[in-house]
Amino acid sequence: MVGGGQLARMTHEAGIPLGIRFKILSDTPQDSAAQVAGEVVIGDYRDLDTLREFARGCDVITFDHEHVPTEHLRALEADGVPVRPGPDALVHAQDKGVMRARLSEIGVPCPRHRIVTDPADVAAFAAEGAGADGGDGFPVILKTVRGGYDGKGVWFVRSEAEARDPFLAGVPVLAEEKVDFVRELAANIVRSPHGQAVAYPVVESRQVDGVCDTVIAPAPELSDELSGRAQELALRIARELDVTGHLAVELFETRDGRILVNELAMRPHNSGHWTQDGAVTSQFANHVRAVLDLPLGDPRPRAPWTVMVNVLGGDYPDMYQGYLHCMARDPQLKIHMYGKDVKPGRKVGHVNTYGDDLDEVLERARHAAGYLRGTIVE
Ligand code: ADP
Repeated sequence: MVGGGQLARMTHEAGIPLGIRFKILSDTPQDSAAQVAGEVVIGDYRDLDTLREFARGCDVITFDHEHVPTEHLRALEADGVPVRPGPDALVHAQDKGVMRARLSEIGVPCPRHRIVTDPADVAAFAAEGAGADGGDGFPVILKTVRGGYDGKGVWFVRSEAEARDPFLAGVPVLAEEKVDFVRELAANIVRSPHGQAVAYPVVESRQVDGVCDTVIAPAPELSDELSGRAQELALRIARELDVTGHLAVELFETRDGRILVNELAMRPHNSGHWTQDGAVTSQFANHVRAVLDLPLGDPRPRAPWTVMVNVLGGDYPDMYQGYLHCMARDPQLKIHMYGKDVKPGRKVGHVNTYGDDLDEVLERARHAAGYLRGTIVE
């Protein structure tokens, strides 16, 4: 697996019962997965020679992030290394411009969008969407097409004057209408090279300051009709783009009952962490199976409700005290910490809770995450 973050750490964990030799390419020895994996290569994934050296002896290569240059992946494939997902699929998770163009081509509902060249062009894009209500079409969302994550590389702009910053990096900029959504959903599926696919229940994902905070599985009060539509959409995208492994389709649910695709991730995803404790087969275990072209595991939930809350680094680095409190209070709680240094705002772990009563399950997860973070003290 290329990348040494928490996704690699948890994918490695899922490979252990299968006796899979797991090798990672990590930026530093301190990265989450580098601390635990048996074979660790420290190196730069942007360097083709490093990638080639890393790939030697690997049966298959997969990723914990989407930042490996597409041309390097093509070079690895040309060397005969199976790359899953392959570059032609992965480019849709790497480049938001390519993703929007392709999804529109295959008739997948997306927010109104186009590539914009400068602030004046942003104003023109806004004007094209100016409503009958007399509005000027602002606010507009601007996104750098590559390199963004956790809300970085995304700007909400209310005027032409505010639209300068996104162009400073010299990366193409995608403009999107600001969708008036009621909530964000994620439709997560896993697909194998054989073409077998499984769909997890559609979840609700709540963000705070652009970072995923809480995931509820299944999404509360989502109709069977909409949930089925979202799952079918994700399965269709995976088939059309020939995705291998876990695919997260981030969705907006609009007030008038539509679902629009926000973005795609072709790797295990934060919106699927609940599956570790809440589904028969976790996203990590199924990603491993898919990448190895093994039959996929049952994606169904184990409990009526599962809630995942991220633990963000706060001012409370004493994890032992946190564990004492949380484990004593809630014996069913599942804690997953990533071995990262605690820094304010950084995702350092998550908790999963499950049960029959959503309010109670939510309260337990929030309490534990808040306590571990240091925002709740009793
Ligand atoms: P990232 O690559 O950082 O995950 P996203 O494209 O998912 O970037 O955007 C981050 C967040 O910004 C989304 O989760 C959503 O809350 C908000 N957002 C993104 N695009 C839109 C849009 N077109 N309309 C409204 N909100 C949006």
